[in-house]
Amino acid sequence: MPNRVNVDLSIQPETRTFACRYQLTASFPTAQRSLAFNVNRKFRVTEVQGPHLLGYTDSLFYDAFQQDTLRRLTLRFAQPSRQQTVTVRYNGTTPFQTDSVLEFTAHANWLPTIPDQEYALVRYRLAVHIPAAYQVISTGPARRAANGTYVFTGQAPNIELTAVAARRFTTLGGRHAGVELYKANRPFNVRDSLLRTHALAIIAYQNRIIGRRAPIRRFRILLPGSNRNAFGLLDNAAVITYSDFDTRKPADLLILAHEISHKWWGWGTWNTYDNWLNEGFATYSGLLYLRATADTATFRQQLLKHRAAAAPAPPILQFDARKDMAQYRAVIYSKGTVVLADLHTRLGDEAFFRLLQATAAAHVNTTQAFLALVEQKTGRETRDWLAARLGS
Ligand SMILES: [Zn+2]
Repeated sequence: MPNRVNVDLSIQPETRTFACRYQLTASFPTAQRSLAFNVNRKFRVTEVQGPHLLGYTDSLFYDAFQQDTLRRLTLRFAQPSRQQTVTVRYNGTTPFQTDSVLEFTAHANWLPTIPDQEYALVRYRLAVHIPAAYQVISTGPARRAANGTYVFTGQAPNIELTAVAARRFTTLGGRHAGVELYKANRPFNVRDSLLRTHALAIIAYQNRIIGRRAPIRRFRILLPGSNRNAFGLLDNAAVITYSDFDTRKPADLLILAHEISHKWWGWGTWNTYDNWLNEGFATYSGLLYLRATADTATFRQQLLKHRAAAAPAPPILQFDARKDMAQYRAVIYSKGTVVLADLHTRLGDEAFFRLLQATAAAHVNTTQAFLALVEQKTGRETRDWLAARLGS
């Protein structure tokens, strides 16, 4: 059973501040006497409590993967237990706020996370309070939306709980039309309707070659317009912040196909080499879509670019965030992509797509598990060939 999370978020747009209560009920395979959380170091923690809590320490440390100083709360309990409930209250400046858009998204680092379990699935209830002049959206419809309070529930990676607030959102595509767009504070333009058309085509293709056993039936694209980045979420949604995003450009179409495929590619541990199971797979999935649209020129050119970047990089299986972070993209994205392209060439379309479908359906989250699946689906020889490629 996933851990349960109950979040109560109050946003004050005028002062650009927020206050949050985060309650976690966590189960462990063995009894635990302590529990650690990483919390954004810019926030002020005002209270940590729990029925068996003895006390906690609060310290800063340097995280090699994020190349940043993070803050860690270490909680100690009176007696070891296989289940603990803790509540953390904190407040601070809204992490991302531009032009009446307030983003509490996966990249805003606004929630406490258990170290190395940032992407662990949680069952959540997220209540957001905001002045009535604002609207709040998330990855799915609100359970309740009245008098400035919005309630969302669902199951998602802890880090991906999402609330985006703006004065108003324009929407394109109904709830039953497959893909819905939500754009903050601005009207839609021709690029947005093309984005929606392309998203529908990408989803139809990826459902066929990757998601046959767990297809996307509805998908939300949030367009806050804050020009920061783009990211796909496990919960059938993507956030694209670029205000000039134009899927008529192959580079932007590639980003869209990459991000949508994260619906299936989000299970590998993000701060180890197993992250190639997310980023290598998503990058190659994006390329496959371009190939399917007959844009073989961009497909080839991108693959060459990844080959060139991957050549001098250390092996995937030796990637160590403490010493190789300068090579992160070359190893995790480029080398991961090249290994998959070569595996695809070795197996051919039919067997390779079957393997993608099995990998997605099994929520494969370690390289060892992927190798085992490759052996089961394609035989020992290909497994050994792949292990050698990952180690070179
Ligand atoms: Zn990605």
